[in-house]
Amino acid sequence: MKSIPQPIVIVGGGFGGMTLALTLKSNNPSLPILVVDSESNFVFKPLLYEVFSKEIRTWEATPKFANIFANSGITFLKNCLTKIKFKENILEFSDELKLKYQYLVLCTGSIPNSFSIKGVDENCYFFNDLNDLNKLESLFKISQTNSLNKKLFIVGGGPSGIEIACKIKDMFRDQYEINIVEKSNEILSKNKIFNREQAEKALENRKINVLLNSTVKEVSENLITISNDSGTANMDKNIVIWTAGVKPNLSYLDAHDISKKNGRILVNDKFQIGNNKNCFAIGDIAIIDGMEDLPITAQVAMQEGNHLARNIELLIHEKDLLPFEFQDNGEMISLGIGEASISGLGLTLAGKLAFDSRRLIYASKLPDISETFKSATSWVFQKKSIFKRYFQKDNFS
Ligand SMILES: Cc1cc2nc3c(=O)[nH]c(=O)nc-3n(C[C@H](O)[C@H](O)[C@H](O)COP(=O)(O)OP(=O)(O)OC[C@H]3O[C@@H](n4cnc5c(N)ncnc54)[C@H](O)[C@@H]3O)c2cc1C
Repeated sequence: MKSIPQPIVIVGGGFGGMTLALTLKSNNPSLPILVVDSESNFVFKPLLYEVFSKEIRTWEATPKFANIFANSGITFLKNCLTKIKFKENILEFSDELKLKYQYLVLCTGSIPNSFSIKGVDENCYFFNDLNDLNKLESLFKISQTNSLNKKLFIVGGGPSGIEIACKIKDMFRDQYEINIVEKSNEILSKNKIFNREQAEKALENRKINVLLNSTVKEVSENLITISNDSGTANMDKNIVIWTAGVKPNLSYLDAHDISKKNGRILVNDKFQIGNNKNCFAIGDIAIIDGMEDLPITAQVAMQEGNHLARNIELLIHEKDLLPFEFQDNGEMISLGIGEASISGLGLTLAGKLAFDSRRLIYASKLPDISETFKSATSWVFQKKSIFKRYFQKDNFS
């Protein structure tokens, strides 16, 4: 094994980065690993809907990195990457810290994409991280005390839009008239048919309106402008939640630094970035050259993290790296309080049973944190220890 004078630096401790760090360390206890993240907490994004609906508590879905990595031998640093000097192998951070790396892994995830549509950044709410969740919670707290039937628009008929729409309906009943705006001719167009059918039923049962083939042109303080086959209309709105798409979070890269495709870092099937064979990218920010585009999901990021752990080991032992192959292990979607839909690995489940199974599967995937920080009253961590062994690591997403 080659000696590693500097730590392997992983920037971004989300699904990809955390999986990579924990797997690499557990298989190679002597390797020095540094995880850098701009936030203090890991965010288990698929459970944010349950945090919003108070079905689980915030800390259960957002454990602190310091707790996740406590006693693991992995060093955690809270800092925000602002620049990479690839030729000199140097990272620069927001507090002017400079760090030299020998091996670098980037996994900085996604941020909402407003597609430069007028007024979206200023007048919409988002649902991507803890900050967004806190803003939405405050908004609903204030808004709830006012009159009934306020107009709520959710832009994007993908999983995020559907999941948040169903939760809001179940939480607030008829206080809001909920409209989902989707530019294609169906909701969940990239998802499994079974989950789409279950979602359609869930929306119908809740009397949530779905405006298909409709595109948002502008959002102002009081109006949303929507265009479809019949023309363009300005509609009154109280709240707009934007879930119409994400883009890679790459503010630290200069335009000419490296090759990109669809805004994401182009990597080979071993996750190496161009000619920088000691630099890798995984998760939402990466796109694999020559491979069919993979879904932008936690399942993909975790599988990539596990695979890259193996490849870094091979690289250090001066062996050939292995190409990545994605295994589709299914998908799960929450459909309101106490309901969900699961499809994959030959299994389809809907309703309460799917809801319970989804929570148990996620509980099994939550990062291990030190016993000291687990609360005896935590649903997630009680179930995790009981059910972890029944669920394979990368199943579902
Ligand atoms: C509401 C919501 C629900 C979702 N539900 C599902 C689901 O049900 N199933 C599923 O498979 N996927 C789901 N996803 C998608 C999934 O969460 C992402 O695909 C996954 O998180 C990607 O993993 P990642 O490691 O690439 O990035 P992330 O997990 O987002 O981690 C990125 C990390 O990088 C850090 N970071 C960013 N920039 C910097 C910087 N400059 N310096 C230092 N650190 C930085 C961030 O703080 C973050 O911790 C959902 C996403 C959202 C928003």
